[in-house]
Amino acid sequence: MTNELYDVAIVGGGPAAHSAALYARRKELKTAMVAKEEGGQLLYSSEIDNYLGIPDVEAFDLVKKFREHVDKYEPEKYEDEVLDVEKDENFHLNLNKEGELRSKTLIVATGAKWRKLDVPGEKELSGKGLSYCTTCDGPLFAGADVAVIGGGNSAFEGVIDLLPIANRIVNVDIAPEPIADPVLQKHVKNSDHLDDVELESYYGHEILEILGDDMVTGLRLKDKESGEEKEVEVEGVFVEIGLIPNSSFVDDLVETNDAGEIVVDCDSKTNVEGLYAAGDVTNVPEKQIIIAAGEGAKAALGAYSYLIHQ
Ligand SMILES: Cc1cc2nc3c(=O)[nH]c(=O)nc-3n(C[C@H](O)[C@H](O)[C@H](O)COP(=O)(O)OP(=O)(O)OC[C@H]3O[C@@H](n4cnc5c(N)ncnc54)[C@H](O)[C@@H]3O)c2cc1C
Repeated sequence: MTNELYDVAIVGGGPAAHSAALYARRKELKTAMVAKEEGGQLLYSSEIDNYLGIPDVEAFDLVKKFREHVDKYEPEKYEDEVLDVEKDENFHLNLNKEGELRSKTLIVATGAKWRKLDVPGEKELSGKGLSYCTTCDGPLFAGADVAVIGGGNSAFEGVIDLLPIANRIVNVDIAPEPIADPVLQKHVKNSDHLDDVELESYYGHEILEILGDDMVTGLRLKDKESGEEKEVEVEGVFVEIGLIPNSSFVDDLVETNDAGEIVVDCDSKTNVEGLYAAGDVTNVPEKQIIIAAGEGAKAALGAYSYLIHQ
C-alpha cells in the first residue's frame, strides 16, 4: 500500500493511457500509471502505417516512442494489475501486488482483447496470415483470397475494406444469416467491386480448424444443418467476431453497455463523478491507436478540469 493520494490514477499501458499520462503530467497533476503490461495490444501488432506523422513504424518502436515521451514527464509507474476499485470521496484501487492506491480521479484505459474462435490452428497461425483487424492488416492481402469470419458489423466493415483489395472473399459465420446493419449489407451487395471480386458466403457453418503449417492455407468448415465438412482454400483469415473490453474490474462501479464497454460522453466522462475512460475499453466507435490516444488526452483534460472546479 502507498500512502500517496494521487490527483489522477490511470489504469492501462496502451496508447490511451500513455496519452492520458502525458496530458495529466503537463498539467502538473500528481499521476500514477498502473499497467499489467506496458504497450497494450501494440505488443501483438507488427508494422503500423496509420499513425499520423509516424509512417511504417514497427509497433514495438511506437511503444518505445510513447514510453520515452511520457517518461520525460515522470508519472509514477506501477507494473501491476488493478483487481477492483471502490469509491468514497476518493478512488481506492486494489492492486494485485502493491495493495491499495488512492486517487482523487480515475482514468480507465484498459483496452480490450480480441474475441477468439478457439479452434486448432488459430493460435499457431496468428500473425501468419491470421489477423483480428481488417482495417490494420487488410492492405497486406492485395490480390489474395481471404476469409472474413463473422456476420456482424465488424465483419461486414471488414468485407467492405477488402472488396477493393482482395481477389476472392469468403465470408463465414455460425449463425444462419448475417446480423450486420442492413445499410452495410446493402453496401456489400451493391458494390461495383463485385464485378472483379468473388464473394462466397457460408452462413450456418462452424469453423473447425484454420489450416496451414507456416502460413494460413485454408479453413475447415462444417455445415451445421447437414453435418457436411469441407475445406476452403484462402491465404488470409480475418477473425472479426468482436472485442471483449477489459472492464470487469470496474463493472459494479460504472455504467457499461451490453457489450461490456464503459459508457462515456463526448468529454470521456462516465456516469461516476471523477471517473473517466478512454480507448478500446469504451463505447467510442472504431478501435484504433490514434483514436485511443486522442481519447486518452481528452480524459486527462477532463480529470484536470474536474479537479480545478472542486
Ligand atoms: C494484431 C493487432 C494489430 C493492430 N493494428 C493496428 C493498426 O495497424 N493501427 C491501429 O490504429 N490500430 C491497430 N490495432 C488496434 C490498436 O492496437 C488498439 O486500438 C489500441 O491499442 C487501443 O489502445 P488502448 O490504450 O485503448 O488499449 P490497449 O492497447 O488494449 O492497452 C490496454 C492496457 O491496459 C492494461 N490492462 C488491462 N487490464 C488491466 C488491469 N486490470 N490492471 C492494469 N492494467 C490493465 C494492459 O496491460 C494494457 O497495457 C491493432 C490491434 C491488434 C491486436
